[in-house]
Amino acid sequence: MSKTLIRCGRLFSGHGNQALENQTLVISGDSIEWMGPTGEAPAAGQGDRVLDHGGHFVMPGLVDCHTHISYGNAQAQEDIDLHAPMEFRTLRALHAAQAVLRAGVTSIFDPACSGYISPSVREAVATGMFEGPRITCAGRSLTSQQGLYDWYPSWIGFPSSSTGERAYTVAEAVQVIRDQAKNGVDAIKLTMDGISRREGDGLIAAYTQDETLAMVEEIHRLGLKAVVHARGREGALYAARAGVDIIHHASCIDDDGIQAALDNGCYLCPSLTLLVNNIEFNSPTDPSAAWWPDIQKQELMDASTNLKKARAAGVKFISGSETGFAVTPYGEWNAKELEAHVRYLGFTPAEALRCATVDSARVLRDADRLGGLAPGKWADLLIIEGDPLADITVLQDADRLRAVFKGGRKVDLTPAVPRERRAFEFSMGMWSRQYTREAVAATGVEPFLIPS
Ligand SMILES: [Zn+2]
Repeated sequence: MSKTLIRCGRLFSGHGNQALENQTLVISGDSIEWMGPTGEAPAAGQGDRVLDHGGHFVMPGLVDCHTHISYGNAQAQEDIDLHAPMEFRTLRALHAAQAVLRAGVTSIFDPACSGYISPSVREAVATGMFEGPRITCAGRSLTSQQGLYDWYPSWIGFPSSSTGERAYTVAEAVQVIRDQAKNGVDAIKLTMDGISRREGDGLIAAYTQDETLAMVEEIHRLGLKAVVHARGREGALYAARAGVDIIHHASCIDDDGIQAALDNGCYLCPSLTLLVNNIEFNSPTDPSAAWWPDIQKQELMDASTNLKKARAAGVKFISGSETGFAVTPYGEWNAKELEAHVRYLGFTPAEALRCATVDSARVLRDADRLGGLAPGKWADLLIIEGDPLADITVLQDADRLRAVFKGGRKVDLTPAVPRERRAFEFSMGMWSRQYTREAVAATGVEPFLIPS
Protein backbone atom coordinates (compact mmCIF):
# COMPACT_ATOMS: atom_id res chain seq x y z
CA MET A 1 0.00 0.00 0.00
CA SER A 2 1.40 3.42 -0.90
CA LYS A 3 1.95 5.80 1.96
CA THR A 4 1.75 9.52 2.53
CA LEU A 5 4.66 11.26 4.24
CA ILE A 6 3.90 14.70 5.61
CA ARG A 7 6.86 16.94 6.39
CA CYS A 8 5.67 19.14 9.26
CA GLY A 9 7.28 22.49 10.08
CA ARG A 10 5.79 22.16 13.55
CA LEU A 11 3.82 19.24 14.92
CA PHE A 12 1.51 19.34 17.95
CA SER A 13 0.54 15.78 18.88
CA GLY A 14 -2.31 16.77 21.20
CA HIS A 15 -0.19 16.08 24.28
CA GLY A 16 2.09 18.42 26.20
CA ASN A 17 2.46 22.15 25.71
CA GLN A 18 4.83 22.37 22.77
CA ALA A 19 4.92 21.71 19.09
CA LEU A 20 8.01 19.86 17.85
CA GLU A 21 9.91 21.20 14.86
CA ASN A 22 10.87 19.37 11.66
CA GLN A 23 8.80 16.24 12.17
CA THR A 24 7.47 13.72 9.70
CA LEU A 25 4.18 11.86 9.83
CA VAL A 26 3.82 8.65 7.86
CA ILE A 27 0.24 7.72 7.00
CA SER A 28 -0.60 4.24 5.81
CA GLY A 29 -4.21 3.62 4.86
CA ASP A 30 -6.42 5.35 7.41
CA SER A 31 -3.86 5.42 10.22
CA ILE A 32 -0.63 6.97 11.38
CA GLU A 33 2.18 4.45 10.97
CA TRP A 34 5.17 6.46 12.12
CA MET A 35 5.87 9.85 13.62
CA GLY A 36 9.16 11.48 14.59
CA PRO A 37 12.03 13.76 13.59
CA THR A 38 12.40 14.13 9.84
CA GLY A 39 16.10 13.17 10.10
CA GLU A 40 15.10 9.72 11.40
CA ALA A 41 12.04 9.22 9.17
CA PRO A 42 11.79 6.15 6.92
CA ALA A 43 12.58 6.94 3.29
CA ALA A 44 9.67 7.36 0.89
CA GLY A 45 9.13 4.19 -1.14
CA GLN A 46 8.03 3.84 -4.75
CA GLY A 47 4.58 5.31 -5.21
CA ASP A 48 4.61 7.05 -1.82
CA ARG A 49 3.45 10.64 -1.66
CA VAL A 50 5.55 13.27 0.10
CA LEU A 51 3.73 16.44 1.13
CA ASP A 52 5.90 19.35 2.14
CA HIS A 53 4.32 21.37 4.93
CA GLY A 54 7.64 22.65 6.26
CA GLY A 55 6.10 26.08 6.79
CA HIS A 56 2.98 24.85 8.54
CA PHE A 57 1.58 23.75 11.89
CA VAL A 58 0.16 20.23 12.02
CA MET A 59 -2.26 19.16 14.77
CA PRO A 60 -5.02 16.61 15.44
CA GLY A 61 -8.46 17.25 13.94
CA LEU A 62 -10.77 19.22 16.20
CA VAL A 63 -13.49 17.49 18.21
CA ASP A 64 -16.69 19.45 18.86
CA CYS A 65 -18.76 17.80 21.59
CA HIS A 66 -21.79 20.06 21.20
CA THR A 67 -22.93 20.16 17.58
CA HIS A 68 -26.60 19.74 16.69
CA ILE A 69 -26.58 18.71 13.04
CA SER A 70 -30.38 18.42 12.86
CA TYR A 71 -31.18 21.97 14.01
CA GLY A 72 -30.74 23.66 10.64
CA ASN A 73 -29.24 26.93 11.96
CA ALA A 74 -32.65 27.56 13.51
CA GLN A 75 -33.98 31.01 14.33
CA ALA A 76 -36.74 29.68 16.61
CA GLN A 77 -37.43 26.55 18.64
CA GLU A 78 -40.32 25.69 16.35
CA ASP A 79 -37.88 25.58 13.42
CA ILE A 80 -36.05 22.78 15.20
CA ASP A 81 -39.06 20.78 16.32
CA LEU A 82 -41.87 21.31 13.89
CA HIS A 83 -40.85 22.50 10.47
CA ALA A 84 -39.45 20.60 7.46
CA PRO A 85 -40.15 16.92 6.88
CA MET A 86 -37.87 14.57 8.83
CA GLU A 87 -36.47 13.21 5.57
CA PHE A 88 -35.45 16.69 4.45
CA ARG A 89 -33.97 17.40 7.87
CA THR A 90 -31.82 14.28 7.59
CA LEU A 91 -30.37 15.36 4.25
CA ARG A 92 -29.89 18.87 5.63
CA ALA A 93 -28.08 17.39 8.66
CA LEU A 94 -25.64 15.58 6.38
CA HIS A 95 -24.98 18.85 4.54
CA ALA A 96 -24.43 20.53 7.94
CA ALA A 97 -22.05 17.81 9.11
CA GLN A 98 -19.97 18.28 5.97
CA ALA A 99 -19.73 22.04 6.60
CA VAL A 100 -18.43 21.30 10.09
CA LEU A 101 -15.83 18.87 8.72
CA ARG A 102 -14.59 21.50 6.25
CA ALA A 103 -13.99 23.79 9.25
CA GLY A 104 -11.48 21.28 10.61
CA VAL A 105 -13.79 19.39 12.97
CA THR A 106 -13.12 15.73 12.21
CA SER A 107 -15.31 14.35 15.04
CA ILE A 108 -18.47 15.59 16.70
CA PHE A 109 -20.71 14.61 19.57
CA ASP A 110 -24.33 15.49 18.80
CA PRO A 111 -26.17 15.50 22.12
CA ALA A 112 -29.75 15.87 20.82
CA CYS A 113 -31.67 15.53 17.58
CA SER A 114 -35.18 14.83 16.40
CA GLY A 115 -36.01 11.26 15.46
CA TYR A 116 -32.91 9.25 14.59
CA ILE A 117 -31.42 11.86 12.29
CA SER A 118 -27.95 11.96 13.83
CA PRO A 119 -27.53 8.17 14.19
CA SER A 120 -28.62 7.87 10.54
CA VAL A 121 -26.07 10.44 9.34
CA ARG A 122 -23.50 8.73 11.58
CA GLU A 123 -24.05 5.43 9.76
CA ALA A 124 -24.11 7.05 6.31
CA VAL A 125 -20.68 8.54 7.01
CA ALA A 126 -19.23 5.57 8.90
CA THR A 127 -20.13 3.15 6.09
CA GLY A 128 -18.48 5.37 3.50
CA MET A 129 -21.63 6.47 1.66
CA PHE A 130 -20.86 10.14 2.22
CA GLU A 131 -18.02 12.32 3.47
CA GLY A 132 -18.51 13.76 6.94
CA PRO A 133 -17.05 13.95 10.43
CA ARG A 134 -17.06 10.96 12.77
CA ILE A 135 -20.26 11.16 14.79
CA THR A 136 -21.18 10.08 18.30
CA CYS A 137 -24.74 10.99 19.20
CA ALA A 138 -27.84 10.90 21.32
CA GLY A 139 -31.44 10.98 20.08
CA ARG A 140 -34.38 12.94 21.46
CA SER A 141 -33.77 14.55 24.82
CA LEU A 142 -35.74 13.14 27.75
CA THR A 143 -37.64 15.89 29.49
CA SER A 144 -40.21 16.44 32.22
CA GLN A 145 -42.81 19.15 32.53
CA GLN A 146 -40.25 21.38 34.24
CA GLY A 147 -37.66 21.04 31.55
CA LEU A 148 -36.13 22.44 28.41
CA TYR A 149 -37.60 20.79 25.28
CA ASP A 150 -41.00 20.53 26.94
CA TRP A 151 -41.86 23.79 25.19
CA TYR A 152 -45.38 23.25 24.05
CA PRO A 153 -48.62 23.49 25.98
CA SER A 154 -49.93 20.23 27.41
CA TRP A 155 -52.71 20.16 24.81
CA ILE A 156 -50.05 19.84 22.12
CA GLY A 157 -47.58 17.68 24.05
CA PHE A 158 -44.64 16.19 22.16
CA PRO A 159 -45.03 16.21 18.37
CA SER A 160 -43.30 13.16 16.89
CA SER A 161 -40.86 15.48 15.09
CA SER A 162 -39.84 17.21 18.33
CA THR A 163 -36.33 17.14 19.78
CA GLY A 164 -37.80 16.53 23.23
CA GLU A 165 -39.35 13.25 24.31
CA ARG A 166 -41.75 12.92 27.21
CA ALA A 167 -40.32 11.25 30.30
CA TYR A 168 -42.35 12.54 33.22
CA THR A 169 -41.68 9.52 35.42
CA VAL A 170 -38.87 7.00 35.83
CA ALA A 171 -41.10 4.31 34.30
CA GLU A 172 -41.64 6.46 31.19
CA ALA A 173 -37.93 7.30 31.05
CA VAL A 174 -36.85 3.65 31.22
CA GLN A 175 -39.14 2.84 28.31
CA VAL A 176 -37.71 5.70 26.24
CA ILE A 177 -34.12 4.79 27.13
CA ARG A 178 -34.68 1.19 26.00
CA ASP A 179 -36.35 2.33 22.79
CA GLN A 180 -33.53 4.68 21.93
CA ALA A 181 -30.91 2.06 22.81
CA LYS A 182 -32.61 -0.39 20.46
CA ASN A 183 -32.54 2.20 17.69
CA GLY A 184 -28.83 2.84 17.85
CA VAL A 185 -28.03 5.93 19.90
CA ASP A 186 -24.65 6.14 21.63
CA ALA A 187 -25.92 8.28 24.47
CA ILE A 188 -29.09 9.36 26.23
CA LYS A 189 -29.65 13.02 26.97
CA LEU A 190 -31.52 14.15 30.05
CA THR A 191 -32.80 17.68 30.41
CA MET A 192 -31.88 18.53 33.97
CA ASP A 193 -32.91 22.20 34.14
CA GLY A 194 -36.43 23.10 35.13
CA ILE A 195 -38.11 26.37 35.91
CA SER A 196 -39.23 26.92 39.46
CA ARG A 197 -42.54 28.65 40.05
CA ARG A 198 -41.25 29.71 43.46
CA GLU A 199 -40.26 33.36 43.43
CA GLY A 200 -36.57 34.15 43.02
CA ASP A 201 -35.60 30.52 42.58
CA GLY A 202 -34.42 30.53 38.96
CA LEU A 203 -33.57 27.10 37.63
CA ILE A 204 -34.25 23.99 39.68
CA ALA A 205 -33.56 20.38 38.81
CA ALA A 206 -36.23 19.01 36.48
CA TYR A 207 -35.86 15.57 38.05
CA THR A 208 -35.35 14.61 41.68
CA GLN A 209 -32.07 13.08 42.81
CA ASP A 210 -33.64 9.62 43.02
CA GLU A 211 -35.16 9.90 39.55
CA THR A 212 -31.83 11.02 38.10
CA LEU A 213 -30.01 8.12 39.76
CA ALA A 214 -32.52 5.60 38.43
CA MET A 215 -32.33 6.92 34.86
CA VAL A 216 -28.54 7.07 34.79
CA GLU A 217 -28.33 3.57 36.21
CA GLU A 218 -30.46 2.23 33.37
CA ILE A 219 -28.50 4.22 30.75
CA HIS A 220 -25.22 2.77 32.03
CA ARG A 221 -26.67 -0.73 32.42
CA LEU A 222 -27.37 -0.68 28.67
CA GLY A 223 -23.81 0.45 27.91
CA LEU A 224 -24.74 3.97 26.82
CA LYS A 225 -23.37 7.32 27.88
CA ALA A 226 -25.45 9.69 30.00
CA VAL A 227 -25.37 13.31 28.85
CA VAL A 228 -27.22 16.15 30.51
CA HIS A 229 -28.11 19.76 29.87
CA ALA A 230 -27.73 21.61 33.18
CA ARG A 231 -27.06 25.33 33.38
CA GLY A 232 -28.51 25.57 36.89
CA ARG A 233 -26.89 24.67 40.21
CA GLU A 234 -29.28 21.93 41.29
CA GLY A 235 -29.48 20.15 37.93
CA ALA A 236 -25.69 20.01 37.70
CA LEU A 237 -25.44 18.75 41.28
CA TYR A 238 -27.96 15.92 40.85
CA ALA A 239 -26.39 14.93 37.54
CA ALA A 240 -22.89 14.88 39.00
CA ARG A 241 -24.03 12.83 42.01
CA ALA A 242 -25.70 10.36 39.65
CA GLY A 243 -22.40 9.93 37.81
CA VAL A 244 -23.39 11.11 34.34
CA ASP A 245 -20.66 11.13 31.70
CA ILE A 246 -21.08 14.68 30.40
CA ILE A 247 -22.66 17.81 31.87
CA HIS A 248 -23.26 20.48 29.24
CA HIS A 249 -22.92 24.07 30.49
CA ALA A 250 -22.69 23.55 34.30
CA SER A 251 -22.56 27.35 34.48
CA CYS A 252 -23.84 27.52 38.05
CA ILE A 253 -22.25 24.36 39.45
CA ASP A 254 -21.45 24.82 43.15
CA ASP A 255 -18.81 23.32 45.44
CA ASP A 256 -20.88 20.18 46.14
CA GLY A 257 -21.46 19.71 42.41
CA ILE A 258 -17.76 20.17 41.72
CA GLN A 259 -16.87 17.58 44.36
CA ALA A 260 -19.41 15.09 42.94
CA ALA A 261 -18.14 15.66 39.38
CA LEU A 262 -14.62 15.01 40.63
CA ASP A 263 -15.63 11.87 42.58
CA ASN A 264 -17.58 10.43 39.65
CA GLY A 265 -15.30 11.48 36.81
CA CYS A 266 -17.92 13.59 35.00
CA TYR A 267 -16.77 15.73 32.09
CA LEU A 268 -17.93 19.34 31.89
CA CYS A 269 -18.62 20.81 28.45
CA PRO A 270 -19.02 24.59 28.98
CA SER A 271 -20.37 25.32 25.46
CA LEU A 272 -19.69 29.04 25.70
CA THR A 273 -19.81 30.03 22.04
CA LEU A 274 -23.60 30.24 21.92
CA LEU A 275 -23.61 32.51 24.98
CA VAL A 276 -20.83 34.70 23.64
CA ASN A 277 -22.42 35.01 20.20
CA ASN A 278 -25.79 35.85 21.76
CA ILE A 279 -24.12 38.66 23.67
CA GLU A 280 -22.03 39.92 20.76
CA PHE A 281 -24.39 39.53 17.82
CA ASN A 282 -27.88 40.21 19.17
CA SER A 283 -29.70 42.58 16.85
CA PRO A 284 -32.29 45.16 17.99
CA THR A 285 -34.87 43.63 15.66
CA ASP A 286 -34.61 40.19 17.28
CA PRO A 287 -37.77 39.47 19.25
CA SER A 288 -35.74 38.78 22.42
CA ALA A 289 -33.31 41.68 21.99
CA ALA A 290 -34.24 43.62 25.08
CA TRP A 291 -33.63 40.93 27.68
CA TRP A 292 -31.59 38.16 26.05
CA PRO A 293 -28.03 39.59 26.01
CA ASP A 294 -28.22 40.60 29.67
CA ILE A 295 -29.16 37.16 30.99
CA GLN A 296 -26.54 35.64 28.72
CA LYS A 297 -23.90 38.03 30.12
CA GLN A 298 -24.85 37.04 33.65
CA GLU A 299 -24.57 33.35 32.79
CA LEU A 300 -21.19 33.85 31.11
CA MET A 301 -19.91 35.63 34.21
CA ASP A 302 -21.28 32.86 36.47
CA ALA A 303 -19.77 30.21 34.20
CA SER A 304 -16.41 31.95 34.25
CA THR A 305 -16.33 31.98 38.06
CA ASN A 306 -17.70 28.50 38.70
CA LEU A 307 -15.96 26.62 35.92
CA LYS A 308 -12.59 28.12 36.84
CA LYS A 309 -13.17 26.70 40.35
CA ALA A 310 -14.06 23.32 38.86
CA ARG A 311 -10.88 23.34 36.77
CA ALA A 312 -8.75 24.27 39.75
CA ALA A 313 -10.30 21.35 41.65
CA GLY A 314 -9.29 18.97 38.85
CA VAL A 315 -12.61 18.33 37.10
CA LYS A 316 -12.20 17.15 33.49
CA PHE A 317 -13.30 19.37 30.60
CA ILE A 318 -14.27 18.77 27.00
CA SER A 319 -15.05 21.30 24.28
CA GLY A 320 -18.21 22.00 22.31
CA SER A 321 -19.51 25.10 20.54
CA GLU A 322 -23.29 24.45 20.46
CA THR A 323 -23.35 24.82 16.71
CA GLY A 324 -26.66 24.59 14.84
CA PHE A 325 -28.47 27.81 15.72
CA ALA A 326 -28.76 31.02 13.70
CA VAL A 327 -26.03 32.61 15.88
CA THR A 328 -23.81 29.53 15.59
CA PRO A 329 -24.15 28.38 11.97
CA TYR A 330 -22.40 25.19 10.88
CA GLY A 331 -18.69 25.52 10.26
CA GLU A 332 -18.57 29.22 11.09
CA TRP A 333 -17.84 29.34 14.83
CA ASN A 334 -16.81 25.83 15.92
CA ALA A 335 -13.22 26.91 16.69
CA LYS A 336 -14.38 29.97 18.61
CA GLU A 337 -14.97 27.68 21.60
CA LEU A 338 -11.21 27.33 22.03
CA GLU A 339 -10.86 31.11 22.14
CA ALA A 340 -13.69 31.23 24.73
CA HIS A 341 -11.88 28.66 26.88
CA VAL A 342 -8.81 30.88 26.83
CA ARG A 343 -10.67 34.16 27.30
CA TYR A 344 -13.22 33.19 29.96
CA LEU A 345 -11.93 30.03 31.66
CA GLY A 346 -8.21 30.72 31.92
CA PHE A 347 -6.99 27.94 29.60
CA THR A 348 -3.64 28.44 27.91
CA PRO A 349 -3.81 27.96 24.13
CA ALA A 350 -2.08 24.57 24.56
CA GLU A 351 -4.68 23.53 27.16
CA ALA A 352 -7.51 24.64 24.88
CA LEU A 353 -5.99 22.65 22.00
CA ARG A 354 -5.64 19.53 24.15
CA CYS A 355 -9.18 19.95 25.47
CA ALA A 356 -10.65 20.23 21.95
CA THR A 357 -8.67 17.24 20.63
CA VAL A 358 -7.33 14.55 22.96
CA ASP A 359 -9.59 15.23 25.95
CA SER A 360 -12.80 15.58 23.95
CA ALA A 361 -12.03 12.40 22.02
CA ARG A 362 -12.27 10.39 25.24
CA VAL A 363 -16.07 10.58 25.24
CA LEU A 364 -16.48 9.46 21.62
CA ARG A 365 -17.11 6.11 19.94
CA ASP A 366 -13.85 4.41 19.00
CA ALA A 367 -12.01 6.59 21.53
CA ASP A 368 -8.98 4.31 21.37
CA ARG A 369 -8.38 5.11 17.67
CA LEU A 370 -8.91 8.83 18.23
CA GLY A 371 -7.30 11.48 20.35
CA GLY A 372 -4.05 12.96 19.25
CA LEU A 373 -1.41 12.02 16.75
CA ALA A 374 0.48 8.80 17.47
CA PRO A 375 1.23 5.55 15.62
CA GLY A 376 -1.90 3.39 15.47
CA LYS A 377 -4.33 6.31 15.68
CA TRP A 378 -6.56 7.34 12.82
CA ALA A 379 -4.91 9.99 10.67
CA ASP A 380 -7.34 12.83 11.47
CA LEU A 381 -5.32 16.02 11.27
CA LEU A 382 -5.22 19.67 10.33
CA ILE A 383 -2.56 21.65 8.53
CA ILE A 384 -2.58 25.29 9.59
CA GLU A 385 -0.82 28.40 8.43
CA GLY A 386 0.04 30.17 11.65
CA ASP A 387 0.62 29.17 15.27
CA PRO A 388 -2.45 28.40 17.38
CA LEU A 389 -0.18 28.00 20.43
CA ALA A 390 0.59 31.72 20.12
CA ASP A 391 -2.82 32.85 18.86
CA ILE A 392 -5.72 30.44 19.29
CA THR A 393 -7.96 32.48 16.96
CA VAL A 394 -6.03 31.43 13.83
CA LEU A 395 -8.11 28.25 13.91
CA GLN A 396 -11.19 30.33 13.05
CA ASP A 397 -9.69 31.64 9.82
CA ALA A 398 -10.73 29.43 6.92
CA ASP A 399 -7.92 30.87 4.77
CA ARG A 400 -5.34 29.55 7.22
CA LEU A 401 -6.76 26.02 7.19
CA ARG A 402 -4.55 24.57 4.48
CA ALA A 403 -5.71 20.97 4.65
CA VAL A 404 -7.90 18.59 6.64
CA PHE A 405 -7.24 14.87 6.67
CA LYS A 406 -9.78 12.40 7.98
CA GLY A 407 -8.76 8.75 8.14
CA GLY A 408 -5.72 9.53 5.99
CA ARG A 409 -7.79 11.07 3.20
CA LYS A 410 -7.66 14.70 2.27
CA VAL A 411 -11.02 16.44 2.68
CA ASP A 412 -12.23 18.63 -0.18
CA LEU A 413 -12.34 22.11 1.38
CA THR A 414 -14.18 23.76 -1.53
CA PRO A 415 -16.99 25.72 0.15
CA ALA A 416 -20.51 24.50 -0.56
CA VAL A 417 -22.68 26.61 -2.84
CA PRO A 418 -24.70 28.91 -0.54
CA ARG A 419 -27.91 27.10 0.22
CA GLU A 420 -31.29 28.49 -0.64
CA ARG A 421 -33.58 28.15 2.38
CA ARG A 422 -37.08 26.83 1.91
CA ALA A 423 -40.16 28.37 3.49
CA PHE A 424 -41.19 24.98 4.93
CA GLU A 425 -38.12 25.03 7.21
CA PHE A 426 -39.32 27.93 9.32
CA SER A 427 -42.00 29.13 11.64
CA MET A 428 -43.84 32.04 10.12
CA GLY A 429 -42.71 35.10 12.07
CA MET A 430 -44.80 38.03 10.82
CA TRP A 431 -44.38 41.10 13.00
CA SER A 432 -41.92 41.94 15.75
CA ARG A 433 -44.03 44.62 17.48
CA GLN A 434 -47.55 45.89 18.18
CA TYR A 435 -48.72 48.60 15.77
CA THR A 436 -51.05 50.58 18.04
CA ARG A 437 -52.24 54.01 16.90
CA GLU A 438 -49.72 55.58 19.25
CA ALA A 439 -46.80 53.51 17.95
CA VAL A 440 -47.67 54.18 14.32
CA ALA A 441 -48.15 57.91 14.95
CA ALA A 442 -44.64 58.00 16.47
CA THR A 443 -43.15 56.60 13.25
CA GLY A 444 -44.86 59.25 11.06
CA VAL A 445 -46.33 56.83 8.49
CA GLU A 446 -47.94 58.40 5.38
CA PRO A 447 -50.97 56.82 3.64
CA PHE A 448 -50.07 54.59 0.70
CA LEU A 449 -51.19 56.07 -2.65
CA ILE A 450 -51.63 54.06 -5.87
CA PRO A 451 -49.01 55.39 -8.29
CA SER A 452 -50.66 57.16 -11.22
ZN1 LIG B 1 -27.35 21.77 23.03
